[in-house]
Amino acid sequence: MAEILKGNVVAAKIKEDMIERIKKLEANGTYPTLGIVRLGDNASDVSYEKSIIKNCDAIGIQSKVFEKETSMTTEELIAFMEELNNDKEISGILMFRPLPKHIDEEKIRNAISPSKDVDCMHPLNLEKIFEGDMTGFSPATPKAAMEILLYNEIPLEGKNVVVVNRSMVVGKPLVMMLLEKNATVTICHSRTKNLDEVTRNADVVVTALGKPKFFTEKFFTKDSIVIDVGVSMTEDGKLSGDVDYENVVNLVDKVTPVPGGVGSVTTTLLLNQVVMACENN
Ligand code: NAP
Repeated sequence: MAEILKGNVVAAKIKEDMIERIKKLEANGTYPTLGIVRLGDNASDVSYEKSIIKNCDAIGIQSKVFEKETSMTTEELIAFMEELNNDKEISGILMFRPLPKHIDEEKIRNAISPSKDVDCMHPLNLEKIFEGDMTGFSPATPKAAMEILLYNEIPLEGKNVVVVNRSMVVGKPLVMMLLEKNATVTICHSRTKNLDEVTRNADVVVTALGKPKFFTEKFFTKDSIVIDVGVSMTEDGKLSGDVDYENVVNLVDKVTPVPGGVGSVTTTLLLNQVVMACENN
């Protein structure tokens, strides 16, 4: 049976370090504060917001929710972002996306102050990652996958890593993070031919499709290390990763569970960036 790479131990280590840093900031009269911007009351946004606030409370980060009308215009939202950018009490800003279709998301991404951009949506912050500079804000999901690999001391230098996803929120920034660790990276997507052959030849496979139980045993070998980023629902309404976990766990060397894997590290990393923003500002 595979070694299970759990996210909670990784998150706990990051939290331990954050608590010390928050104490130092508070001693100087500075309180890390996350500003959450939500347009409308989409159920999944509201549920994610509740979980973030709970996590903020647990660690000593303050949070403020700004609920706005979905009917607001791009210009109105830009003006509001400027207010938040200038608000000294707000250390970092999280904006729920996707935004309503009539809003020009590119303009909004450019409107957030790069120094408060804890969700890494401003092009300047993404550019840093693509230049190989990992010292700034990172998109939380690919960073969570990296943190799990690093915490478990999984060698990356010279190793073959396959990433099945080419989106800007997961695959592309993850490839940059892996390259920075000197991995040899292959990026796969829906047009990739013979995907199972490609993944079987990898040392590490990162899956992020959003298709429950897609990756069966035929995609892996006994030496595979599998990081499952995908989150979706099975037909019977159960939360699932991309990996057919119940079967794959009996074959591979190491695997992350869903839930309890990558997802349990992402919120912690987002909050870590709020503390970073507070320290930098
Ligand atoms: P996305 O933009 O839909 O990307 C899916 C990727 O999978 C695309 O690159 C797509 O290829 C590829 N793909 C789809 N079908 C494929 C197939 N049959 N074979 C090979 N590649 C295939 O989604 P996303 O926003 O990046 O999110 C991906 C997954 O990560 C979702 O399950 C999401 O819920 C999850 N996620 C998890 C967290 C977390 O904290 N754990 C956070 C964010 C997202 P093309 O580019 O060719 O279409």
